[in-house]
Amino acid sequence: MARKFLVVGNWKSNGNVLEAMEIVNFLNQAQVPSQDVVEVVVGPKYECLLPVKTSLRPDFHVAAQKGGLESGGAFNGELSVKTLGCLGIQWVILKHAEVRQLVDKTNESAGDRFVHALSVGLKVVVCVGETLEQREAGSTMEDVTAQAIAIADKVSNWDNVVLAYEPLWATGTGKVPTPAQVQEVVHELRKWIEINISTEVAYKTRIIYGGSVNGANCKEFATLPDIDGLLVGAASLTPEFVDIITSAT
Ligand code: PGA
Repeated sequence: MARKFLVVGNWKSNGNVLEAMEIVNFLNQAQVPSQDVVEVVVGPKYECLLPVKTSLRPDFHVAAQKGGLESGGAFNGELSVKTLGCLGIQWVILKHAEVRQLVDKTNESAGDRFVHALSVGLKVVVCVGETLEQREAGSTMEDVTAQAIAIADKVSNWDNVVLAYEPLWATGTGKVPTPAQVQEVVHELRKWIEINISTEVAYKTRIIYGGSVNGANCKEFATLPDIDGLLVGAASLTPEFVDIITSAT
């Protein structure tokens, strides 16, 4: 089965419930390819999850931006997968570039969240990507692979895993890698999966690109041979996101 194109809008900590509803309004009216062709997921912040989930068109899905501690309890401020289940949320974004820099700083951290999220059937978008220093030092593949190893150590079934290649230096910065730079990393990553996990997993696992994607540059990333979708931050808050959803078709 071919890998279905996936577009994830990551709203980060932007806006309030009213602003989230404005985005929902234009998304609900958007003319986009059917969900058999493009899968669309949006990730509002916590307090917007339920309002967005209940008012968003049913062919679009909702992701939490964190989650994973199994069943709640004495974990101050955490968002358990049980809570996500109660809200009807089916997706979660883990190890986002900003989280890697600020919270879960090691490759191994968040491993338990990852396992718990997968164990309750959540679909997980997990991000990998190098810093500017690592790119300039020529160690991009080494660093991305080390992150992939930490993920692979926790996954036994890849069906619900999407890898997002997000160079940290391109995320939320407006700095954009060339399509050739993105294709090179993603191609190598898929080869790494093939050699170290299996040909089947390499074939079926979606790898999407994120980092300063907008309406003007989306097509050149969307059409790269090894790219199966886009993870979009700032541009997912505006009607430009609709152009991005249609970029692969
Ligand atoms: P950006 O964010 O598109 O604003 O760079 C990407 C992301 O957060 O995934």
